[in-house]
Amino acid sequence: MLRILMVPLVLCIDVEPDAHVFGPDQPSPWSGFESMLEMAPPLRDRLRRLTGRPAHFGWSLRIDPQVAMGYGSPTYVAEKYRARLDDLAAQGDAIGVHPHAWRWDAERQVTVAEHADRQWVDSCTELAVGSFCQVFGRVPDYHRFGAQYMSTPTMNLLRHLGVTVDLTVEPGEGPDRDAQLPGTVWTGQTGDFRHAPTGPYRPSPDDYLRPAEDGGGGANLWEVPLTSSDSSRFPTPAHRARRRLQHPVRSARGLVRRVSPSLGGPSLPGHRLLAMWLEWARPSDFWDAAFEAATSQPSPYLAFAIRTDTGSHPVLRHTFTTLMDALMEDERAADLSFVTPAEALAEMGRSEMSRARLPAPPVTPLEPSQ
Ligand SMILES: [Zn+2]
Repeated sequence: MLRILMVPLVLCIDVEPDAHVFGPDQPSPWSGFESMLEMAPPLRDRLRRLTGRPAHFGWSLRIDPQVAMGYGSPTYVAEKYRARLDDLAAQGDAIGVHPHAWRWDAERQVTVAEHADRQWVDSCTELAVGSFCQVFGRVPDYHRFGAQYMSTPTMNLLRHLGVTVDLTVEPGEGPDRDAQLPGTVWTGQTGDFRHAPTGPYRPSPDDYLRPAEDGGGGANLWEVPLTSSDSSRFPTPAHRARRRLQHPVRSARGLVRRVSPSLGGPSLPGHRLLAMWLEWARPSDFWDAAFEAATSQPSPYLAFAIRTDTGSHPVLRHTFTTLMDALMEDERAADLSFVTPAEALAEMGRSEMSRARLPAPPVTPLEPSQ
């Protein structure tokens, strides 16, 4: 069958401890990551049969001071699961980094999201990229800062460190979306993505939310914004109410939106992050919104990020698997190509990166599984 349209889809998995925050004596397990490692091979096989192409994922490793505090080394997850990560990379997956700016405040016994301290944020970025280089002998395939934090100095630092792709920007989302997370205190402000570009661009050194006027001046750093969609596409209030009962952390986010328009409530320009962790009334609603968002782009693409607790949290796991099951029944899925961020850019003709990194041409679909 001749396929006219191919839509690159980046599925980025933030590899993190199960809990967002924890004290130094109570490090949280990584059971969600271990579950995702088990979920990935059958999902990869199903997607390969579905699309007729190899399926690649992105794994963004938490490497930062909070991990160093809890597990004795900032690169704990890279070291402990090195063989599994090498296996994923050998199958074509991208391995990136996902630092958070968490700082444990021993006196107050809380975790501080230290976004106001430029030096601290820089040290987190440098620790993530530098430690990754030491362990793997290469620059991370992509970067995605935690808690929606980004700034022009941080983006410029990533460029300076040789990072080629960032996936932090979530168009339509206001700053400090997660600032009500229990056990945390937030300083400064996270990224204000309400007017962010919705397609790949080379960030301007003067303003990371604007494309560089000279196309980037030869610098090889691309921002690949996650996919967002028109607010009218999102689950109804009845569904959100049910969701709040099931997931109090997410409900805190909703509270921020309701009480503080300046933090991204009614002033949003009508778009929100197309989140896989929302409970959609029908999974096809999610995919309708996704394909609409993709085809509204000059070069259609999709980019989603999930956290590894998708593997261990019953509601998140059910929501994700329901979405993927629905995709298996969706004839539009034949147009998708599950790719790494670099492959997505190459497919969109947005990168001088090696064409050799393009995915192989369509393969003959395997026999359907029993
Ligand atoms: Zn995170």
